[in-house]
Amino acid sequence: MNTIDTIQTDVLIIGGGPSGLATAIHLADICKKNGQNLRILLLEKGSSIGSHILSGAVIKPAVFKELLPDVDFAEIPFNAKVTSDKTIILSENGSFTLPFHIPYMSNSGNYTASLGQICKYLATKAEEKGVEIYTGFAVDEILYKNGKVIGAKTIDTGIDHHGKQLENFQAGTRVEAKITIFAEGTRGSLTKTLINRFNLDKDKNKQIYSLGCKEIWSVPEGNIKPGEVYHTMGYPLKNEEFGGGFIYGLNDNKVAVGFVVGLDYKDPTFDVHDVMQVWKTTKFVSTILKGGKLVEYGAKTLPEGGYYAVPKLYVDNALIVGDSGGFLTMPALKGIHLAIKSGMLAAQTAANALQKNDTSEKSLQQYETRIANSFIHKEMYPVRNFRQAFTKGLFIGGFHFATQLITGGAGLFGRLKSHADSETTQTLKGFTGVPFKERFKGKLEFDKVLTFDKATNTFYSGTHHDEQQVVHLQINDQKNFDEVNIAQYGATEQFLCSSEVYELHTNKDGKKELRIHAENCLHCRTCDIKSPGAGITWNVPNGGNGPDFQNM
Ligand SMILES: Cc1cc2nc3c(=O)[nH]c(=O)nc-3n(C[C@H](O)[C@H](O)[C@H](O)COP(=O)(O)OP(=O)(O)OC[C@H]3O[C@@H](n4cnc5c(N)ncnc54)[C@H](O)[C@@H]3O)c2cc1C
Repeated sequence: MNTIDTIQTDVLIIGGGPSGLATAIHLADICKKNGQNLRILLLEKGSSIGSHILSGAVIKPAVFKELLPDVDFAEIPFNAKVTSDKTIILSENGSFTLPFHIPYMSNSGNYTASLGQICKYLATKAEEKGVEIYTGFAVDEILYKNGKVIGAKTIDTGIDHHGKQLENFQAGTRVEAKITIFAEGTRGSLTKTLINRFNLDKDKNKQIYSLGCKEIWSVPEGNIKPGEVYHTMGYPLKNEEFGGGFIYGLNDNKVAVGFVVGLDYKDPTFDVHDVMQVWKTTKFVSTILKGGKLVEYGAKTLPEGGYYAVPKLYVDNALIVGDSGGFLTMPALKGIHLAIKSGMLAAQTAANALQKNDTSEKSLQQYETRIANSFIHKEMYPVRNFRQAFTKGLFIGGFHFATQLITGGAGLFGRLKSHADSETTQTLKGFTGVPFKERFKGKLEFDKVLTFDKATNTFYSGTHHDEQQVVHLQINDQKNFDEVNIAQYGATEQFLCSSEVYELHTNKDGKKELRIHAENCLHCRTCDIKSPGAGITWNVPNGGNGPDFQNM
């Protein structure tokens, strides 16, 4: 029998991405300035800081000077300053370069980087300032007292598939905090329950997402230079599908290539991973990768709903920062600087509230005012209708966007609504387009040189999960899942997953069932977002489980 440890802290930060680390750094700096002596504790589920971080990334650097005013900028491990920045329109057999920048898409003055490496660096800065960082700790429960957040608890370990305690059972740790900061990134599993419990998305748009699959390649010298940036539009996507590719030249003859697709697509057999492989076979992309080798693979979702989908960000004793709060500017595909800024504003709010000894919702409301007065609002408000307009396709979306540019974001119709991605997939019978496999007939046999199947790619993510645990991917209602998700949607989960987790299996009685290979999960959260009827819930697995990204 194992007892539950309880520890006390002033501030608990859940998640060691840019938003959580910025919160920690800025809070430590404010405390030092004010002579406030606060315990700041950050928990990260990855085995190390950066191991669960995946981004493009081209980063807007100015916010780093705000966050680390005393640090020599050259010390920050960016990769290369952007030297050229082009948008390429792809067709199946050719490409042309747009002669201008689409508004908001210019990357002049920005830097390419591995966000994982940047986070590792930020973590060392945070620790130098006295922040306690514990990696390999998955937080799976919010603690409440009298209906108010009082901290969170890490996951119990040493249990079997059915939840039965084994000999090596270890109860999780209760961390009680005066303020808890939710910095879990996209579709945070605890943030989701917090939003539901307190109805924080009341009167807001539904959050909508994209899935981005990414590979790092090592290529022969001369294929691409550090700081060369390309974004592609068009093939292999159709007019009604939102998304495109990115190619970022890195140092040491490395290149980051990725493909991002809006999860509001309709075809139940659509597969973002496979679309990326088809994209790599185009002349434009394959020329850059020619003679190279795959080094790493990973995937993650991005919250794209924008300004109208940002939930209420505060409750008694708790704040939400970064992607968990939906801070991302489409069309720029940028969230890192917003994640950092939101963390800094949350830190100012927390320091102020703790100094006043008032961490009530009323006191924490100042966080929203700080955001409204910051560049976060300035960047997100003018593009508040951007992504919703594109749910009607590229042409109508493009027209809407033009009207938004003229009207300061309002467009012709004011606020545009959005639908949850889990509602947009059509059934096998209801889908009237050409199904994915027919559409890309002859292009989905992967050669393992330029293109890779999901199983091979998954190997390149380094992901692993302990066998001794309850499967962290949960079918919410088995009967409904069998009758609807399998029978009507053909188990779309096997296609929407960015790795090799879901398999449709026919048992010996001829019944179709979904097998879940949770050990392959990349923590992208697409199943939680896109499974029809919200059929799947993604929970955190044991701490230290999951991908082992090195340079994502
Ligand atoms: C394919 C892709 C390309 C992108 N390109 C760009 C780009 O070029 N430029 C740009 O500015 N932005 C880009 N973004 C967006 C950017 O990466 C995010 O906005 C940013 O990473 C958000 O930071 P965050 O701290 O909120 O979340 P994250 O970076 O996701 O970090 C969250 C951390 O919390 C941890 N965590 C989550 N839940 C728990 C839990 N319950 N317990 C413990 N730990 C937990 C996670 O393991 C993770 O380490 C891109 C995103 C994607 C997916």
